[in-house]
Amino acid sequence: MKCPYCEKEMTKGALGPMALRAWTYWVSDAYIQTHPYPPTTQKEQADAGIVPIYTGYGTKTQADPVWYCKDCGKLIGELSDDTTK
Ligand SMILES: [Zn+2]
Repeated sequence: MKCPYCEKEMTKGALGPMALRAWTYWVSDAYIQTHPYPPTTQKEQADAGIVPIYTGYGTKTQADPVWYCKDCGKLIGELSDDTTK
């Protein structure tokens, strides 16, 4: 997916809950598909290249896809029906 702001290619990933720094983070699908557990320590989160998101709440277990543009810092999510009700 191309970023509608800068038109560069975006990276598909998902949101997850975190207890350090922020309440939510974005992580790439490439990391999710190669690791059986989410990154929990600061080293794992740094190695995963997570992006902290300061929402104040976590997210549900079944994550919706979210695209991240590293060039202009935009996130674009695709919410499922149960999160929009
Ligand atoms: Zn962009």
